[in-house]
Amino acid sequence: MTSSLSQRITTIWASLPPSVRLIAVSKTFPAEDIRAAYNAGIRDFGENRIQEAASKQAELQDLPDITWHFIGRLQSNKAKKAIELFDWIHSVDNLKLAQRLNQLAQELGVSPQVCLQVKILPDPNKSGWSVPELLADLLALNQCKDLQIQGLMTIPPLGLNETQTIDVFNATSNLAKEIQKQNWSHLKMQELSMGMSGDYQLAVPAGSTMVRLGTILFGQRT
Ligand SMILES: *Cc1c(COP(=O)(O)O)cnc(C)c1O
Repeated sequence: MTSSLSQRITTIWASLPPSVRLIAVSKTFPAEDIRAAYNAGIRDFGENRIQEAASKQAELQDLPDITWHFIGRLQSNKAKKAIELFDWIHSVDNLKLAQRLNQLAQELGVSPQVCLQVKILPDPNKSGWSVPELLADLLALNQCKDLQIQGLMTIPPLGLNETQTIDVFNATSNLAKEIQKQNWSHLKMQELSMGMSGDYQLAVPAGSTMVRLGTILFGQRT
């Protein structure tokens, strides 16, 4: 028996603690699928390409209470568009980008919510700060006062077993706690964007506050 989108949403929601935000990753899926998920109650959507998101948002203008999350690699030349189109940017992955976003936010008079993307293990296929790099950049990040830096985001490398994946999520959670203890004036560490379709059930016990789910909701991307 195949289940409907709204049944899948209901089931996953029931399995998540109320403190965890379900972000429906709608990349590659058309606006009508976003509308169906919206009608099933979803208000948070994740996209990873600026142009694709812009055209879907144009089709969904009658749904004003969507929170849009950017989760893809962000090039500096698209930073302005990202701030204009998205409420959250999960994938701030280096200091230069953070400073660029901060300057644009100031110019535009907005204060986007962001997560800092960290790599707990080396991973040539992913961008993000290593732990020592992030710790070294905290002072400069704390000065990005037009960004609301809310926490950390991580994507474990492909091919880890369950124990290794749990270790990555716990290390990210512990890193956030360590930063929190340093009492920065402008760095909040209350959000952990961790967990995708294949591993969110491991991310939640480690303290995830935002799971980013695509395939398990919308099906396989082609
Ligand atoms: C595509 C994507 C997801 C969703 O992945 P699924 O495995 O389909 O749930 C989550 N996070 C990021 C950063 C992505 O690029």
